[in-house]
Amino acid sequence: MFQSARFKLTAWYLLLIILISTLFSIVIYFGINSELRRLERFQQRRLERDYGNSPAPLFQHRPILDHELIEETDYRLKLVLLLVNLGIFVLSGGAAYFLSGRTLKPIKNMVDEQNRFITDSSHELRTPLTSLRSELEVNLRSKNISPNETKKILRSNLEEVMNLQKLTDNLMELAQYQKRNGDLSMSEISLLDVINKVCRKFTPVAFKNKIRIINKVQDCNIVGDKPALSELFTILLDNALKYSDKNTKINLSSIKEKNVVSISVADEGMGIEKKDLPYIFDRFYRAEKSRSKEKVTGYGLGLSIAKKIVELHKGTIKAESVPLKGSKFTVVLPLS
Ligand code: ADP
Repeated sequence: MFQSARFKLTAWYLLLIILISTLFSIVIYFGINSELRRLERFQQRRLERDYGNSPAPLFQHRPILDHELIEETDYRLKLVLLLVNLGIFVLSGGAAYFLSGRTLKPIKNMVDEQNRFITDSSHELRTPLTSLRSELEVNLRSKNISPNETKKILRSNLEEVMNLQKLTDNLMELAQYQKRNGDLSMSEISLLDVINKVCRKFTPVAFKNKIRIINKVQDCNIVGDKPALSELFTILLDNALKYSDKNTKINLSSIKEKNVVSISVADEGMGIEKKDLPYIFDRFYRAEKSRSKEKVTGYGLGLSIAKKIVELHKGTIKAESVPLKGSKFTVVLPLS
């Protein structure tokens, strides 16, 4: 599809260039040709004025009008213009092919990205749906199932459905941020205000898991989309809690520099293996250890959403980690 669109665009570019160059050549040809004819007429009149119609006296050289030279100049002019047009045709053909490739490249990347997104999402949705279906089918076939067992199965199915709902919510959120591309409602906001609200949200969970959240973020004003930034720190704090054991700490701190502020969320949890670190921001990527960790649900979408939010704020995000010691996520955002 990309190749045929590229050929079509090349053909349009070429057609335009040929039209312009032919038009210019016609103008140039008629311009020079009319000058030649004017010169010819002028010479003719001068000869008639100087020598009249009478034959030249003996031994006197009478200049004659060289029509052949003028015709030859006319012919050469046509040839030069034709060759120039051919050259333009060949060169602009190559240039048009190259330029159409460059024009279509971002569109191709976008379509490829969308296709990948659809394929990945369908794949992720299919696995839990298949297990839900087979569980339902097996239990429907069973004849002597007690009410208690039925309840247990329904509860497990409900859990699966809730997970699926979370997955679709995450997918929609990611698609929203990808679609918005710079179209956030930016305003001047207090960083501490955002962080405090997120911390308050997680206090009950942290308390239940005996994890201490220590918030040392200094206040400063940044320009950003408040709900999006809340979502960003929610993802980071949620992960820190999810991947930490009991009786550990999560430290939130900030460093204000000249034009930027860097905010860190550091935990003392299970950490991330060196081989996984480069991929954790990829869509649907989950490290092997977190997949096998019991009761830790997730689809590997949180950090992709976080990265997209940071990019929309023209900032950066990075992760550092020591397995079994903890992880530290640092977000750098421009100051207002
Ligand atoms: P999810 O947590 O839903 O699996 P994320 O995109 O938020 O998806 O994270 C991707 C992966 O990065 C996780 O599966 C986990 O392996 C790893 N990860 C993220 N944050 C942490 C953390 N604080 N500690 C350890 N591993 C983490």
